[in-house]
Amino acid sequence: MRKQVIAGNWKMNKNHREAEDFIQTAKNEVPSSDQVESVICAPFPFLQKLVEETKGTSLKIGAQNMHFEESGAFTGEVSPVMLKELGVEYVVLGHSERREIFKETDEEVNKKVHAAFKHGLTPIVCVGESLEQREANETMTVVENQVKKAFEGLTDEQSQQVIIAYEPIWAIGTGRTATAEQANEVCSHIRKAVADFVSAGVAEAVRIQYGGSVKPANVEEIVGQSDIDGALVGGASLEADSFLKLVEAGK
Ligand code: 13P
Repeated sequence: MRKQVIAGNWKMNKNHREAEDFIQTAKNEVPSSDQVESVICAPFPFLQKLVEETKGTSLKIGAQNMHFEESGAFTGEVSPVMLKELGVEYVVLGHSERREIFKETDEEVNKKVHAAFKHGLTPIVCVGESLEQREANETMTVVENQVKKAFEGLTDEQSQQVIIAYEPIWAIGTGRTATAEQANEVCSHIRKAVADFVSAGVAEAVRIQYGGSVKPANVEEIVGQSDIDGALVGGASLEADSFLKLVEAGK
């Protein structure tokens, strides 16, 4: 049985005080990590404090990006070594906003996935098609190629530990959710692709989240689908009450 992972992606939101208030409310309310993995992916300036405050609880902390190099002349970047040193456990990689706005490529995402494993971070790798691609019937090929490229060169053991987040770009922040069936169809396709290019065993074990306008009202139906193992949530993860409802659904 695959354990569900419910991850909040705060994106570039909240101030220090708001981040702290959220964590104080949520850290002792999330279900035990035997039942569901609960993760908050916060902006860099909050990470150290959030890691300290959640020590010994079932709420885990992730970053939203990182560079693949360990150190050097990369002004403005944050390295995997720095995240690990802070006690961060997860990192979102290749989010569509990074691919679109910051022009991140599949090759960079792949390098970041390798760097995450090298430094003991669990990567949450985002893939997803644009509206244009969906309308041109390219969803499956787009998503499959993104997954394939992100996984290039990984061992089977590493592949199994990647968390894939299927986030159709047209459903992000738009209030327009893919139907649970649409989401499951793509997640099933991703699982089959992993079976083909890695192995059946890895495909069975790898966790695939759905992301895009997930909220308390639709989360149960989404995470109840056969090939969906959790959710990556933006807007509805910003309030502790709402986030707690989402993680309850993952139990
Ligand atoms: P929303 O839940 O706000 O649609 O954002 C989804 C997302 O991009 C999570 O990474």
